[in-house]
Amino acid sequence: MAFDFKTYQEILHQLNGAATLVAVSKTKPHTDIMEAYASGVRDFGENYVQELLEKQPILPQDIRWHFIGHLQSNKVKYIAPFVHLIHGVDKLGLLDEIQKQALKNQRTISVLIQVHVASEETKYGFSPREAIEIFTQLDKSRYSQITFCGIMAMATFTNDQSQLQREFSAAKEVFDSLSKVMGNDWQTLSMGMSSDWNLAVAAGSTLVRLGSILFGSRN
Ligand SMILES: *Cc1c(COP(=O)(O)O)cnc(C)c1O
Repeated sequence: MAFDFKTYQEILHQLNGAATLVAVSKTKPHTDIMEAYASGVRDFGENYVQELLEKQPILPQDIRWHFIGHLQSNKVKYIAPFVHLIHGVDKLGLLDEIQKQALKNQRTISVLIQVHVASEETKYGFSPREAIEIFTQLDKSRYSQITFCGIMAMATFTNDQSQLQREFSAAKEVFDSLSKVMGNDWQTLSMGMSSDWNLAVAAGSTLVRLGSILFGSRN
């Protein structure tokens, strides 16, 4: 299976415009991406800079590339010319670098703040308390080239529905509480993957990141 058009259509139907679907194409060849593109998909997510840099030049230029992985400051310069949305801002230092590279490229770069709501230790992001504290106080005028669009969160890898619900609600609370101070572009709550997207949408997600459900499992 390369791209599962039928499932894609079914999910779009269920989303009914409530959330943007980003097709997560990491590890998948550009031929799979072209199949999805031919079906109308324009938003794609990648989480390795090197892989994104190999794909971006040879694929249609109207693709909106979402960087959904952990981003190191020294790699920002490579994706700054074209990236549509950086999902995983997890340190203030990263913002400084994004500001610098956006200026160099004479563009504005949209970002999401990553909030850690999962019980696993390994996932990146600010704790809900930190996120609220830091971004309420942040001097946004330092970041003239950055558009703060919202929050990204990943839930724990579990089947426990009530735990997933709690985690998604925690992210939604941070999103809502910061919306008062972050301005009009604060519209995106990126949460939900192949296994939990419907719970995420029920909890208020406005963007789901779907990989294996559309492209098949990864090796
Ligand atoms: C890989 C990945 C996804 C997609 O995962 P699936 O379970 O295949 O849908 C979503 N978000 C992030 C941050 C990822 O790294």
